[in-house]
Amino acid sequence: MKKEIFLCAINNILSGTCLEDCKFCTQSVRYHADIERYNYKSIETIVDEAKRAKSHGALGYCLVTAGKGLDDKKVDFVARAAQAIKDEVENLNLIACNGTASVEQLRYLKAHGIDSYNHNLETSENYYKTICTTHSWSERYETCQNVKEVGLQLCSGGIFGMGESYEDRASLLASIASLNPESTPLNFYHPNAALPIKSRNISRDEALEIVRKARSLLGEDRLLMVAGGRELLFDGCENLMFEAGANSMVIGNYLTTVGDDPEKDKNMLEKLGYGVATTCHE
Ligand code: SF4
Repeated sequence: MKKEIFLCAINNILSGTCLEDCKFCTQSVRYHADIERYNYKSIETIVDEAKRAKSHGALGYCLVTAGKGLDDKKVDFVARAAQAIKDEVENLNLIACNGTASVEQLRYLKAHGIDSYNHNLETSENYYKTICTTHSWSERYETCQNVKEVGLQLCSGGIFGMGESYEDRASLLASIASLNPESTPLNFYHPNAALPIKSRNISRDEALEIVRKARSLLGEDRLLMVAGGRELLFDGCENLMFEAGANSMVIGNYLTTVGDDPEKDKNMLEKLGYGVATTCHE
């Protein structure tokens, strides 16, 4: 049987207005990165974009908002967007990615159609204070635990190549595994001249080693996604990341960087002999 790849699309529904100081993030207002910044998209636009993602084969659809975490306005908006998508698009796993979240906020999202919550640990507990001083790693871990507590699927991963050591990478993977997430995105840092982290300290071979290690720690039944940075490290040799254990990838654009054309990705998967998954359940 063909190996099936799970496709996930991201929609940045509120962009570029965050006061936090994460040194890898163009959406922090502190670094003045040249990105598109906007307030909430209209729900109609979000639903249309969900339909388009679905037509390109996406099974997961992630509603992302910039900012440290959920507040009343944000939770209400994401819930309304989720409900509107569920009303019009079938068989789309809805993921919310809105930062720090309490048990009550997550329950509310779940009740309005969100299936999964994405909150990445980003890097090791030890290295985190080097890349962010405005909130703590433990706060991130706690939100992931809240996700588990309310019975949403947890999507949690991190970013590699931000100047961390091999020990930090191992520690991050162990921390992710300790949460037993249903899905794990592995991002590889995309340098931007405006950001304090200027370059990426990771090679393709190191990235493949991370994919292999993550697969062995997380188990065969979990989704392991190569997300941001795929085009920089694996363009033209995507087979390597799938052979190393990845079974999921992001299609279309990322939060603030442009991804490959979904048609190009579809052709790539066909050429490699992979199928596109049509259901999240075996
Ligand atoms: S909290 Fe999120 S949106 Fe804000 S700077 Fe950090 S990563 Fe970016």
